[in-house]
Amino acid sequence: SCAPFGVMGLVFRSISQLGLRSLFSYGRLILLLVGTMLFVALVVNPLLAVLYIRKNPYPLVFRCLWRSGLTAFFTRSSAANIPVNMKLCQEMGLDEDTYAVSIPLGATINMDGTAIYMGIVTIFAAEIYGMPLPLDQQISVLLIALLASVGTMGVPGAALIMITMVFTQVGIPLEAIALVAGVDRIMDMARTTINVLGDATAAIFISRTENDFDPQRGAALQDE
Ligand code: ASP
Repeated sequence: SCAPFGVMGLVFRSISQLGLRSLFSYGRLILLLVGTMLFVALVVNPLLAVLYIRKNPYPLVFRCLWRSGLTAFFTRSSAANIPVNMKLCQEMGLDEDTYAVSIPLGATINMDGTAIYMGIVTIFAAEIYGMPLPLDQQISVLLIALLASVGTMGVPGAALIMITMVFTQVGIPLEAIALVAGVDRIMDMARTTINVLGDATAAIFISRTENDFDPQRGAALQDE
């Protein structure tokens, strides 16, 4: 229950050290994060789903993806969303042999939203602390963020702890956490949604490659 006060203290300390101008960069950071995640959710994932599904019924698939994303948004936990995601995969017509493996595995290691978040926030923090990173270092930050996201647990707020590992690797002071701790709850909602949608998209892809995607089976389940 003391956490909000601790976060408030850290935020004030950072702003007093870095100046009010850091708030503008902060606004840009949030816009960039939200924009990138919306791009993945509204463009990349649907595009991949359309490519994989081809002749199958898109409305059914998108209805399922939408419901799955919504639950992830409010639970902020990929792990808690496993049963929901599996049920929706079943309603889409995927075979149980496929989604029963790929969804729990994805909820553990496939965290695209978290990787995007860690990468962008680390580059931002480095800039704020006056250590702009050249392109090769930016690429290695993205790779470290990707690895850290694989190790992140599917529970609320896990990335805020794991990002300290990325900061340490890059040499950014750990107080930089204060820059994002205040909005972590909202950011967690966004990145968990992207994580979970990525798991469902991967399940669709594997089903296609295994030729066990049967939309009629899913439609029949929905009519029951
Ligand atoms: N809450 C995220 C998830 O469960 C993990 C994180 O990014 O904090 O997928």
